[in-house]
Amino acid sequence: MPSAFVKPLILWYNSECRLLPWRETKDPYRIWVSEIMLQQTRIEAVCGYYERFLAALPDIESLAACPEDQLLKLWEGLGYYSRARNLQKAARLIMEKYGGKLPEDAGELRKLPGIGEYTAGAIASIAFGKAEPAVDGNVIRVTSRLRACTGDVRTSGFKKELVTWLRQAHDGADGTWGILNQAFMDLGSMVCTANKSPLCMECPVSSFCEAKKAGIQDSIPARAEKKGRRIEERTVVLYTDGERFAIRRRPDKGLLSGLYEFPNYEGKLAREEILLAAREDGMYAVRIRELPEAKHIFTHVEWHMTGYEIMISRNDSKEGSFIFAEKDIINEQYPIPSAFAAYADAAGIKVGKK
Ligand code: SF4
Repeated sequence: MPSAFVKPLILWYNSECRLLPWRETKDPYRIWVSEIMLQQTRIEAVCGYYERFLAALPDIESLAACPEDQLLKLWEGLGYYSRARNLQKAARLIMEKYGGKLPEDAGELRKLPGIGEYTAGAIASIAFGKAEPAVDGNVIRVTSRLRACTGDVRTSGFKKELVTWLRQAHDGADGTWGILNQAFMDLGSMVCTANKSPLCMECPVSSFCEAKKAGIQDSIPARAEKKGRRIEERTVVLYTDGERFAIRRRPDKGLLSGLYEFPNYEGKLAREEILLAAREDGMYAVRIRELPEAKHIFTHVEWHMTGYEIMISRNDSKEGSFIFAEKDIINEQYPIPSAFAAYADAAGIKVGKK
């Protein structure tokens, strides 16, 4: 028998759920793409990209065959580009090993690049109606409040025990795991929220909530101390000959690998220093203009950027160091990560256009 909170939670979901494009389909490919996009990006941001991506790559076959630059261009602005690359690796594997069809079983799904335990559970339950929990931060927060768990929720032991508890709480016989998983997600985003006090007065399961009964809902789950990010100073340069701008491809490994960037240098360089660096790179400056400072936050590092636009009269750079291209060509062909959005803006180049 399901626990008593399941029915009111599902009823609440049926009337209050968020209307999202990937909830209007049963196509496993579309659901998979949405889950990958949502891994590190907010729902509001994903919506525009989702439609654009699927219009260009409507099925697994087209994703598997897509040239990398085009794929990264479609992902431009979403960040965490390894997600796009893994999506494509998985699509190729699906074409080779699974006859072009996404496997239904969560264990098989987990063998594909970019699909971890949560994503496998979400796809298997939502797209295929399998009895699989999908434990993300929302589920952890809501269930640890429901059960008044005061311990550390980040341990693998806690997660394992939670999965067992969820399976007992909902036997899944009626094939509603997909709905239950999404109901937890929506409750966690809309009512039992993370960054402010939960809205217990609006909660459909408040009468079953042990944390609320004890008045400790605000302190659950226990907050972990955050590690500080490393700060990196960089100086970004828009080299231009008046019509074209210089970009270059980042290395194949590491942060923002394989994407394109405006040339940039370590440290916060003054005018004289950047002019020297420009000359060392074979660029003959005729005019320099300071650009506003900008900041970009990655998971473990923050870039604090200083910028210049340098008009050049001659380019003696080593062959292959830079690509000079017009704005429209950069817009169409070269994926520039949003870390450079402020400088792309200054050049009139759109990053992450939807
Ligand atoms: Fe969360 Fe409050 Fe609902 Fe408990 S009653 S699950 S704390 S919103």
